[in-house]
Amino acid sequence: MRTLPLTNLAEINTLAASKATENDAFRVFLKQANTTEIDLYVTALNESITPTINCLDCGNCCKSLMIVVAENEVAEVSQYLGTDTKNFEEHFVEKGANGMMLLNTIPCHFLKTDNACSIYEHRFNGCKEFPALHIPGFTHRLFTIFMHYDRCPIIYNVVEQLKVKTGFISI
Ligand code: SF4
Ligand code: SF4
Repeated sequence: MRTLPLTNLAEINTLAASKATENDAFRVFLKQANTTEIDLYVTALNESITPTINCLDCGNCCKSLMIVVAENEVAEVSQYLGTDTKNFEEHFVEKGANGMMLLNTIPCHFLKTDNACSIYEHRFNGCKEFPALHIPGFTHRLFTIFMHYDRCPIIYNVVEQLKVKTGFISI
């Protein structure tokens, strides 16, 4: 049995593909599980696993996610960068038909080559929250959890250990 956490994204991708059927069954299992109990497990796993994974060795969320931004965040980051919101939006933002604002490049404009965020203290709420395992209601967010399962080593390792904690698989 491999020592966790696994952080190699290529290896995670390969394993994720091989576990597709198992993960479908785990989603069904989780939907029938007690939400409060699962949240307790996820909270404990998140708190033990996250400090063991260095996001600066990864940066994959910043390299692969669409980042939603709010008007107040545009104002804050514009001010931090010493520009106005109009200029910021012209350079960095794309607006959807419904008015939703997204950063207009993937990887993110503000990601540096060493995987650090150049606006870290002023980064967007979605950036601060991801991978959002501290938020209650894990079993109600299974679609997004598994959408990011092979993207984020924190999610991958929490989910894999959750399979053991819940007795879904034994080691
Ligand atoms: S703003 Fe910073 S934390 Fe957010 S996606 Fe861009 S580089 Fe990553
Ligand atoms: S939150 Fe996940 S995907 Fe983002 S840098 Fe950290 S380990 Fe990688």
